[in-house]
Amino acid sequence: MDFTQGEHHHVVTLGTAGGPRFWRDSSRKGIATAIVVEDGFYLVDCGHGVGRQLEQAGLPLSALKGVFITHLHSDHTVDLNTVGLFGLYELQDRLDHPVPIFGPGDRGVLPAVSPRAKTSPQPIAPENPTPGTRSMFNQLMSAYATNLNDRIIDSLRPSPLDLFNAQDIDIPAEVGFHANDQPVPQMAPFEVFRDEHVVVTATLVEHPPIAPAFAFRFDTAQGSVAISGDTTYTPNMVTLSQGAGLVLHEAINFDFIEQMYAGKHDETSRASVDHHYKSHTSVQDAVRVAREAGAHRLALHHLVPEFDSPEQWTRFAVDYSGEFLIPDDLDVIGFSVPDA
Ligand SMILES: [Zn+2]
Ligand SMILES: [Zn+2]
Repeated sequence: MDFTQGEHHHVVTLGTAGGPRFWRDSSRKGIATAIVVEDGFYLVDCGHGVGRQLEQAGLPLSALKGVFITHLHSDHTVDLNTVGLFGLYELQDRLDHPVPIFGPGDRGVLPAVSPRAKTSPQPIAPENPTPGTRSMFNQLMSAYATNLNDRIIDSLRPSPLDLFNAQDIDIPAEVGFHANDQPVPQMAPFEVFRDEHVVVTATLVEHPPIAPAFAFRFDTAQGSVAISGDTTYTPNMVTLSQGAGLVLHEAINFDFIEQMYAGKHDETSRASVDHHYKSHTSVQDAVRVAREAGAHRLALHHLVPEFDSPEQWTRFAVDYSGEFLIPDDLDVIGFSVPDA
């Protein structure tokens, strides 16, 4: 892609598979989306393979304006470390304007233990069991200190901690958020970031037990796109998506989940099935969000399973008058709002 040619206002679906797995169908990589605006792009989530997908899409890291993490599940963050570690070779000139990384802050409290637990599970890293985005990124880079200090001291490379500025998203106090007691209060979206090309707003979505979990909306001079992150149906997503040119919403095929765990009655399997129902969205409910919001296009991503055909997804998409899409990886989707 040549950023000097023409005006770019579109999304590239870098990775469209959901879930923390090495998926069998390699045509869908881990969840990640580029929002391309003018001469740069913004990255939402860093699923498995995001660096290779950016190369495939012709999006050089040197044009990266910001990274936005919807929530701290591993399928959304696993390649945040590769962006940090390999990025230092493409971002050498960014010391005076480091790339901001925005994501959830420290959860502050562990989730309640599952009522299905037979014994008391012991948390990992009890001294810092719920790190937010800033702590996570800094710890990721610290884990590579042997490597990075060679680069910094011997090869005179910059430190990723100077090229990236990882920040926890501050949720306005009046929202009344609490990770366990009130993870998804109904709310108006709030501004997270603004530059000369975009305004990025966020809202809380429902993906228990992880909290906070965000959806983001990008507004540009030419349109708007709302990206759900992982969530069940939530009115906050309808509010965020009002009149959007494009809604990119997660979707799961619950029939697949039922089949995957059919005949398994152990507590771990039942807890996994519980998680999917309370934390993810059917095609029907994704359509409902787009319809209630008056969004002009709906594209589904974070597809679980990743191998269902477009026809298998589309058969559930009734009662929507806008454009409905099941994108492949690396598809380009516009988000302009059609003239009334
Ligand atoms: Zn996910
Ligand atoms: Zn998730």
